[in-house]
Amino acid sequence: MKTHVQVAVIGGGVVGASVLYHLTKAGWKDVVLLERDELTSGSTWHAAGGMHTFNGDPNVAKLQEYTIKLYQEIEEASGQSCSIHITAGVDLAGTPERMDFLKLACARARYLGLDMEIISIDEAARLFPLLDRRHFVGALYNPLEGHVDPAGVTQAYAKAARNAGAEVHRFTRVTALNARPDGSWDVITDKGNIVAEHVVNAAGLWAREVGRMAGLTLPVLAMEHQYLVTGEIPEVVASPTEMLHVIDFEGEIYMRQEGRGMLIGTYEKAGVPWAERETPWNFSHELLSPDLDRIAASLEVGFRHFPALECAGIKRVVNGPFTFSPDGNPLVGPIRGLRNYWVACAVMAGFSQGGGVGLALSNWMVHGDPGFDVWAMDVARFGNWATTAYTNAKVRENYSRRFRIRFPNEELPAARPLRTTPAYDRLKARGAVFGASYGLEHALWFAPAGTEAREDVTYHRSNAHAPVAAECHAVRNAVGLLEIATFSRYEVTGDGAAAWLDRLLANRLPREGRLTLSPMLNENGRLIGDFTIANGGENRFVVFGSGIAEQYHLRWFEAHLPPSGVAIHSLRSEWIGFAIAGPRSRELLSRICRDDVGHEALSFLSFRPAEVAMLPAHIGRISFTGELGYEIWVASDGQLALYDAILAAGADLGLVHYGARALNSLRLEKSFGNWAREYRPIYTPVEAGIDRFVAWDKPDFIGRDAALRDRARRPMRRLVTFVVDADDADAIGDEPVWHDGKVVGWVTSGGYGHCVGKSIALGYVPAALANASEGFEIEILGERRRAAVQAQALYDPKGERMRLSQE
Ligand SMILES: Cc1cc2nc3c(=O)[nH]c(=O)nc-3n(C[C@H](O)[C@H](O)[C@H](O)COP(=O)(O)OP(=O)(O)OC[C@H]3O[C@@H](n4cnc5c(N)ncnc54)[C@H](O)[C@@H]3O)c2cc1C
Repeated sequence: MKTHVQVAVIGGGVVGASVLYHLTKAGWKDVVLLERDELTSGSTWHAAGGMHTFNGDPNVAKLQEYTIKLYQEIEEASGQSCSIHITAGVDLAGTPERMDFLKLACARARYLGLDMEIISIDEAARLFPLLDRRHFVGALYNPLEGHVDPAGVTQAYAKAARNAGAEVHRFTRVTALNARPDGSWDVITDKGNIVAEHVVNAAGLWAREVGRMAGLTLPVLAMEHQYLVTGEIPEVVASPTEMLHVIDFEGEIYMRQEGRGMLIGTYEKAGVPWAERETPWNFSHELLSPDLDRIAASLEVGFRHFPALECAGIKRVVNGPFTFSPDGNPLVGPIRGLRNYWVACAVMAGFSQGGGVGLALSNWMVHGDPGFDVWAMDVARFGNWATTAYTNAKVRENYSRRFRIRFPNEELPAARPLRTTPAYDRLKARGAVFGASYGLEHALWFAPAGTEAREDVTYHRSNAHAPVAAECHAVRNAVGLLEIATFSRYEVTGDGAAAWLDRLLANRLPREGRLTLSPMLNENGRLIGDFTIANGGENRFVVFGSGIAEQYHLRWFEAHLPPSGVAIHSLRSEWIGFAIAGPRSRELLSRICRDDVGHEALSFLSFRPAEVAMLPAHIGRISFTGELGYEIWVASDGQLALYDAILAAGADLGLVHYGARALNSLRLEKSFGNWAREYRPIYTPVEAGIDRFVAWDKPDFIGRDAALRDRARRPMRRLVTFVVDADDADAIGDEPVWHDGKVVGWVTSGGYGHCVGKSIALGYVPAALANASEGFEIEILGERRRAAVQAQALYDPKGERMRLSQE
């Protein structure tokens, strides 16, 4: 075994083997894989090997497509068969709601270039004769589904990597990891030690333990999972072609052909976690005791829906553990604060996702960027609030809901409330309906007095529609109050603060006492942040951004900090705030602030310390609503005093509470983009239409050269605003945009603009079409709706309202 390598991949399951293969493919040959037993000794060996392109996140769906299409390549590169069976698949709907869910999935697939199709139940029965059509209303047909041999795939990755120069050491267990001062790692194994410039935790069932070796608590947990293989089924034997892969959502079962019978798996509602605290090191190529009682209810539905199964008998039952993250997507990428430690774990569908995970991680390691949009599986989407107990509750919930419908307005209840602000109970008493964002409870909307604070889950406009409309109108016409705890805020201090931020951010820094908006770019000139920067004077800046990206941004900030002269820290638990917005917000502020808050003293984009409600505070004159508005920040222990003061001062001004739903409607009317929707690392500032916030003449900032090159050539696409001819269902995001009968783009977010009375969508289209106002359609719930591009924002396009000098 070598004593020094560029990369040590820990774990020889399908994921570690894929990472190894992709590293060699990207040109890194000095790489080893360390496996404590035989390859596939975790969850890989007993997997059912099923694969499909279905995923709630379109970017992960695309990676799944990549994975499936890769198998032929690794067979050729290795000479090892993967036993590829592309059978196609049907996903069966038993209710109209499920049909809506499938239509949405089908529409999303369209803009990704995935070739899915909604089919009738008669057609589904023709393709899969075992089903009893009385139980179904329709189906989604997916030509890219099937199954592979799990061991064959893992061996193929490993052999192909070995052919390219990698080493694979079986029966070599990593027992400890010690960080070295230069950022490399001492990898301690039971067969000797290696110094590795990088380590990859691809330890699957032991990812937690290998995380702990570096002091990490990774949000990952294994669940028991059962499938059974039936005896011979005459219809299967008689079929001239292999049976399709099938998902029956109502029965919560999946199926495929196995030999002369069928393999049936289920995600039971009361799923059972495995090895909740510690995965035993002596677990290898073992199965857990089957417990058919747990899956009996699903099987009964299965027997009703597919009568031929009932007489087939059970040949074999498999119960094995595999791992999940709290939201079910993989955990991939570098870890904040740990140099050269990478993760590729919590991959719950290794045969659909393993290839894409390997590609993304190897790109990230070799080129510094995953190369495509991996936000949905970036390990940084969880902060340290995602504890072991949180993970346990969320993983159970996620497992039990694997085949359930997730409605776009649905907030899942497990592990809540977890993080709350001091005002939580007060807001609740006002009728707040809460959502959780990055673990934090925040008000989505407020149920009017006398009505239940609960939202119906639906694909259509919900019972929140009218109350949200009232909130929006109050903001536009009087004044509204919004808790802004979900915004992230970071304090940057030190002699070098200004110079550092200037290089980090694409815009020029504001003068003292001012705010400015700035994108942050990566080296490729792509958007990795959109911030509001406040200059507090005396080498002190506050950077405000999206709360869900806190870990993601801190990872970037900290990785780019100079050795001295700059300090950055999150003010999340120190500062808390409220926004007040609307034409009467200045009047309200003047009642609770002793300082002059007139237009001259506190002009648009001012930021300054002030005394508000007897508290030391900071006021920023800015609002995401597009109205005159202020963000007021105080120490957390002053939040209730500030809240009470705002309520008392606003009572006769028509003050209302508003929540995230109203804010979304108001910002859509203004065509304001949002992080993780309009702004993501696949877009450039020119494409996203925020190039006016880039100081192109600044001599140096990260991503400048690439962004300049992008600006010089015609951008590929543009963000535009549409008005959609919608009925009672608005676009929500990820719908395809059609033009002249072809899918040309996608929606990033949508909703109803209550104050302009129109259904609005923001989305990307090819740049050549961005000025064509006609000919567009947006597909909502299976129907193509006419959509017209707007030349400017629908509400106050000149931005006069937010600059209001007087009421
Ligand atoms: C019953 C069942 C059915 C399934 N069906 C499907 C399916 O149809 N389709 C699908 O896509 N997925 C399926 N899965 C899930 C699939 O098995 C996993 O997604 C996949 O195996 C994850 O692979 P991995 O490489 O991340 O982890 P693992 O397979 O757990 O591999 C981790 C490896 O790391 C090694 N290791 C750990 N710690 C160390 C250490 N310290 N030193 C050295 N080596 C170490 C282990 O020995 C192990 O070999 C199924 C799972 C189960 C249990």
